[in-house]
Amino acid sequence: MNGVAATILVAALTLGSPQIPTMEEAFASEREGMVREQLLPRGISHPGVLAAMGRVPRHAFVPEALRSQAYGDHPLPIGLGQTISQPFIVAFMTQALEPRPSDRVLEIGTGSGYQAAVLSTLVAQVYSMELLEPLARRAEGDLRRLGFRNVRVRCGDGYKGWPEEAPFDTIIVTCAPEQVPQPLIDQLKEGGRMIIPVGIREQQQLVLLHKRDGQLLRRAVLPVRFVPMVPGG
Ligand code: SAH
Repeated sequence: MNGVAATILVAALTLGSPQIPTMEEAFASEREGMVREQLLPRGISHPGVLAAMGRVPRHAFVPEALRSQAYGDHPLPIGLGQTISQPFIVAFMTQALEPRPSDRVLEIGTGSGYQAAVLSTLVAQVYSMELLEPLARRAEGDLRRLGFRNVRVRCGDGYKGWPEEAPFDTIIVTCAPEQVPQPLIDQLKEGGRMIIPVGIREQQQLVLLHKRDGQLLRRAVLPVRFVPMVPGG
């Protein structure tokens, strides 16, 4: 049991309330707190993104021993030296993509599957690629078990893209290539947008790019520093 759940349970027992919250209710209330305290004050305003962040169970994408920390705004280890993205970054990147219900989105760096789950509530289909086989298989299983049916996961080098399903309306890259991989440029629809961290190590910044006449134009450098997700990478 996590700290908040224990506190609520003790309070409920002390007050003699017949309403003892379940773990899921306690997590739901932590999620609401995360939206209220970490996302709204920091400029996340897209109603669909806020709804997704309030609904998708981040705790179900982290190892059991870390679930009590699932709704703090930090990355957490998910094995093989990788981390689940922090909630603010997930919300920020999703909002910057301006997701539409008809979109087919390519994600590079499935990791835990959490970012893919959040996106999947807002678009038609998510195609997500993960380099490390055990992470890909686990994320695929978690997403299916949790009912995110419009996400497909594929194990492989995401910098080569997913040519069989291209072109994509938008592309979101959650690992950090040194430069924008050409296959991803080729597989983005004309007029489409891509969000990607560029630069190395502590200098990484999130950049929003727009495809015009086959070229990627830098639309904006987003006002957050990206936390590197591959330690030392
Ligand atoms: N989006 C994830 C967090 C990503 S961490 C989440 O919501 O949890 C970055 C992930 O990118 C790691 O799992 C890492 O293994 C993966 N990765 C790194 N290089 C990659 C590549 N070339 N192709 C696909 N995945 C890659």
